[in-house]
Amino acid sequence: MKERIDILDLTLEELAFELGKLNIAQYRAEQIYAWLHRGVLDFYDMTNIPKDMRALLDKSFKTSSVKILDILQSEDKSTAKYLFLLDDGNIIEGVVMRYTYGNTICVSTQVGCKMGCSFCASTKAGFVRDLSAGEMIAQVLAAERHIDADKGKRGIKNIVLMGSGEPLDNYENTLKFLNIIHHSLGLNISYRNITLSTCGLVTRIYDLADEGLPITLSISLHAPNDELRKEIMPIAHRYGIDEIIQSSKYYFKKTGRRVTFEYALIDNVNDRKDHAMELGQKLKDFPCHVNLIPINEIRDSHYVRSSEKNIDRFIKILQGYDIQVTRRRELGQNIQGACGQLRRDYLGRYISHSKGE
Ligand code: SAH
Repeated sequence: MKERIDILDLTLEELAFELGKLNIAQYRAEQIYAWLHRGVLDFYDMTNIPKDMRALLDKSFKTSSVKILDILQSEDKSTAKYLFLLDDGNIIEGVVMRYTYGNTICVSTQVGCKMGCSFCASTKAGFVRDLSAGEMIAQVLAAERHIDADKGKRGIKNIVLMGSGEPLDNYENTLKFLNIIHHSLGLNISYRNITLSTCGLVTRIYDLADEGLPITLSISLHAPNDELRKEIMPIAHRYGIDEIIQSSKYYFKKTGRRVTFEYALIDNVNDRKDHAMELGQKLKDFPCHVNLIPINEIRDSHYVRSSEKNIDRFIKILQGYDIQVTRRRELGQNIQGACGQLRRDYLGRYISHSKGE
């Protein structure tokens, strides 16, 4: 039998095209699309679609699902971390952060990651596969369903592509996801409420800039010079910081969106006074934003988070260069909030369990 197409993986135009092959009128695409992105994934629940058409749809398409395997809530209930099970048995994670102005979901783009950053739990077990756009959408829909059940209201307003994986290493699917999630008949999330985080794949930053979408680009820099960056991020062997800054300037020019640089502060590794000054020198005069994150300590890593004194000093030095600096609100410390930690712990438990230990 022909492999059924994942309907969540289709843009509205693609859906209309696929329906055309089944002799289904184009306006049905809009109806079906609206149902799907309202979280109605069972064709038999689509009440404005004739019954025989529902059966045909059910025979012709599948909907990629992510099932919630586990949820960890932070003590103050502001953050929920989801462990999602994919149809092929792979596990990914997502985080929902509740803010007064709306909920934010952190979406994963790959199972595992190839990038090998030394402080990141997502990459420790290597790369498994890319996620499809449909699987990214399914994470948002699953979280919406859960929020719905929990609070009696919908409400993902912001998307951050900061879960496991490198979004620009899964470029086509990520772009498709952005198209689908933004569509007015879909979840209708404004591009301005979407942030894509990358370790700095420079050629792809240029490509993304040329797409002209007003999403926020966030670049994980974590070091003020290439020597130090190479020690903590293997990607630094491929692209230098100067190239990254050049591409960010191009991104800003093309989209008008200020670029954010993420900088995870690690005690005595990248948090010294001279590091802050070097970073300040590099970024001054560029209307960007620096987001400082005290590193989340993970298993099998000797990195320790910076002291409050060093964090404050770092902030003040950057401000001295007139750079806009924020410190990331730390959510979910008690729920394995750092990227990939929960999945890693879960896989660790499962694997040792199945070995009979
Ligand atoms: N691959 C993308 C997106 C995923 S990681 C990227 O590199 O940006 C999302 C952010 O979390 C990145 O800034 C990443 O560097 C950071 N991060 C990963 N592990 C971390 C840890 N243990 N503590 C603090 N930040 C971490």
